[in-house]
Amino acid sequence: MELKLELIKRLIAKWADRDNRWLSMPCTLAALFVLLVMVKSCQGIAYNFTNECKIYKLGYTIDEARTLVATLSEAQEDTLIAHQEHDTIAIPMLGMRYFIADNFSRYLAFHKKNSTSAPLDVIVALVNVGYDRDRGSSAVPCDTSKGQLMLVNGRHYLDENYKPENLATFSMDYCYENQRAQSVVVDAFMVMQQACKEQTDAQLMVNSAYRSYQDQIGTYKRNPKGYAARAGSSEHQTGYAIDVTSRQHPMRWPFDTSVEGVWMREHCHDYGFILRYPKKQSQIFGFAYEPWHLRYVGKDVAKRIHDEDITFDEYYAYYIEGPTPR
Ligand SMILES: [Zn+2]
Repeated sequence: MELKLELIKRLIAKWADRDNRWLSMPCTLAALFVLLVMVKSCQGIAYNFTNECKIYKLGYTIDEARTLVATLSEAQEDTLIAHQEHDTIAIPMLGMRYFIADNFSRYLAFHKKNSTSAPLDVIVALVNVGYDRDRGSSAVPCDTSKGQLMLVNGRHYLDENYKPENLATFSMDYCYENQRAQSVVVDAFMVMQQACKEQTDAQLMVNSAYRSYQDQIGTYKRNPKGYAARAGSSEHQTGYAIDVTSRQHPMRWPFDTSVEGVWMREHCHDYGFILRYPKKQSQIFGFAYEPWHLRYVGKDVAKRIHDEDITFDEYYAYYIEGPTPR
């Protein structure tokens, strides 16, 4: 009797196991399916909150949205999303030669504000050097620690106490009145004028070099609407700028078509100088073309600026201040 009971118990257990097995499989599958659906739903909901999705919804393709997210900082992505519309220059802008991600929203704003048909490289150049900002409120002190690469312009100013430490005097054989500049500039000019003399028989002369803050006040008063910069905004205060003229034809005009002017434009970078206010950029930035005004930046930087055909302002914005890595 006990044996029969034991046998029945085992049979029931066996059937129960079999039932559980058959019953539990669909349940497990169903549970897994539900779980999968829930995970997918959560992922879908979470994706809606990503910047990639928000940018995609503005009208960009999914690849464009991914490219923008990969290139821009989160703050820049937020700005783009805040525009709430598809911007036609956003993607082409990413491929521009001197694109700086930190300036991205300013490129778009500049383009929009001016309804401009200006080429994108011009927009990049203008924004990089700060032409989209109010000149007065965006002005900052010049970073004199950059030495021969310090930037002085209407937005980067020197105070009245700044005076170069290594001023040297030009020989009176090469200037009409006492002129001084940083000693490295005097040395470079001597090498350059020698080369010019040998190649063209023309003699370069220094018309003006270092000018103090006080000197510049007088120069500006004499030329309020001319070529002179306001005191504090003149490169001549750095001691790295010289105005060059010709001994044979000191009053020749225009200087840029003279033998000296042409030679200097083509060769000054070999001696560490650049044409600080070249003709091409005067059309973009609106500053006066000054074929006689040289700025010393050293041979490597001068060669790069010459080869890339950019201004020192653009060089400074891209190669010294930026682009800021993410
Ligand atoms: Zn000058």
